[in-house]
Amino acid sequence: MKIICIGRNYHEHAKELNNPVPAKPVFFMKPDSALVIRNRPFYYPDFSSDIHHELEVVIKIDRLGRSIEKRYASRYFSQIGLGIDFTARDLQAECKKGGLPWEIAKGFDYSAPVSKFLPLTNFADIHNLNFHLDINGERVQTGNTSEMIFSFEHIISYVSQFITLKTGDLIYTGTPAGVGPVKVGDRLTAYMEETKLMDFQVK
Ligand code: MG
Repeated sequence: MKIICIGRNYHEHAKELNNPVPAKPVFFMKPDSALVIRNRPFYYPDFSSDIHHELEVVIKIDRLGRSIEKRYASRYFSQIGLGIDFTARDLQAECKKGGLPWEIAKGFDYSAPVSKFLPLTNFADIHNLNFHLDINGERVQTGNTSEMIFSFEHIISYVSQFITLKTGDLIYTGTPAGVGPVKVGDRLTAYMEETKLMDFQVK
């Protein structure tokens, strides 16, 4: 499986990092070794001193597809969850400055915790879903999928023009505003509407 992540998909987040709002989706990938499941801890890496949380809605692909038309894209996923796109902001700043790829800042081990997945049928409207992240009980990020610049369907259609999507692939669909640092000892809890989907520690 592969992990595809969309960047700059919420206006307020693009603004907070002084990035332009993109005209088409921006995406990058993380290796499967980045994945953390079942609320296992996130181990803070020693090569960074500025790891940021980015809470994102994640969709799980459940059909093989390439060059998928937007109007058929909804047939390619039936489950939704939450994930954290952990980012070494200090390394990313260096990469950006040098015009270099982001892998060391985005694709390192443990950089992609993901929750369990819920069927889309659990929700009245996946295009109007509230989600939020608390650190040590304090609200740090809130978002609603209606604020996405590119919809789930648009993302699937766009990415599949370049890369075949396979069953089990995950797509992190971008973070809302409110990204910030985590530190060893923090407890992160993430909610989709009122359902707690993630609860893990930084070690
Ligand atoms: Mg992100």
